[in-house]
Amino acid sequence: MADYKFEGWMGIDENADKGNMVWQEFQPKAWEETDIDIKITHSGICGSDLHTLRSGWGPTPYPCCVGHEIVGIAVRVGSKVTKDIKVGDRVGVGAQSDSCLGRKGSCENCAAKLENYCPHFVGTYGMHHFNGDKSYGGHALYNRSPSHFVFKIPDAVPSAYAAPMLCAGITTYSPLKHYGAGPGKTVGIIGLGGLGHFGVLWAKALGADRVVAISRKADKRATALDLGADEYISTDADADWAQKHAGTIDIIISTISSSKMPIGDYLSLLKLDGTLVQVGNPDDGVFQVPALPLILRRVTMGGSAIGSPAEIVEMLQLAADKKVTPLVEERPMKDANQAMVDMDNGKARYRYVLVNEQHL
Ligand SMILES: [Zn+2]
Ligand SMILES: [Zn+2]
Repeated sequence: MADYKFEGWMGIDENADKGNMVWQEFQPKAWEETDIDIKITHSGICGSDLHTLRSGWGPTPYPCCVGHEIVGIAVRVGSKVTKDIKVGDRVGVGAQSDSCLGRKGSCENCAAKLENYCPHFVGTYGMHHFNGDKSYGGHALYNRSPSHFVFKIPDAVPSAYAAPMLCAGITTYSPLKHYGAGPGKTVGIIGLGGLGHFGVLWAKALGADRVVAISRKADKRATALDLGADEYISTDADADWAQKHAGTIDIIISTISSSKMPIGDYLSLLKLDGTLVQVGNPDDGVFQVPALPLILRRVTMGGSAIGSPAEIVEMLQLAADKKVTPLVEERPMKDANQAMVDMDNGKARYRYVLVNEQHL
């Protein structure tokens, strides 16, 4: 039997995002022999944590322990786990912790190894497992997740880098890969935050010809170029940017999660048959999308949700091979409330990762 307790930072009402999470014990899902328990060392803070803590995307089932960029050590591995994971291995869990795969009447998306589009998607926190138990996230001491959604971390990828890759990283990697970002392509990344900075890193790692980072303020120019961007557009400071760069980009990933962005101008940046993929999910209203920029260059606008387990494995290997180095700031787990407030105030450069120092 487990000799450890599941404790973590719990949101208990919709003011939880304002520095009001409380440290509490919780009951993880009932153990199944396909599960893995993880002694958490690192847990990245995602924008979704804030949206969920404040019920921004609909009512949250409080108490809720957020955090879905989890890295730690496997401390219990079920007898029916078929993956090559042993007690003591460094492992991670992203934003999804279960799907209908392997269950009776399993869906066609799971059959196609696109479990992230399963209609029975179970999020790593704030949702319910198939047995009815609530899912609890990573701003905690331990996590229990079904092994299909637990990944071995390659030795070459430090834990503090691997953690944010598991949500911010895969959310940008998946659409870039899907839409063919690589040699011969120009890629645009809108928003240079946690997600966007990964977008720039992956686009370069995948071998895109040109990467254009697009953000509001001028002050992220140096960082964007350091990350590998070939060009930086400040929509505040660069006059006539939309006209100047019109029709020059093949694939745009928009990481903005505000409905107030100039979506028509962004669409006008695309070449013929270009694609804009929206990965940020605003909680402040809906977009108004003008039709003309879609029509003029046969442009497609779409969306994308995290990535599949197979893509996560592929991404972690790319990170190891290309020594992908995200910009993370480690914060002690005990300071989670302050870190959450700082994140909300846009102070993260570019991802906060909470660290359980006693587990290192
Ligand atoms: Zn996330
Ligand atoms: Zn499914």
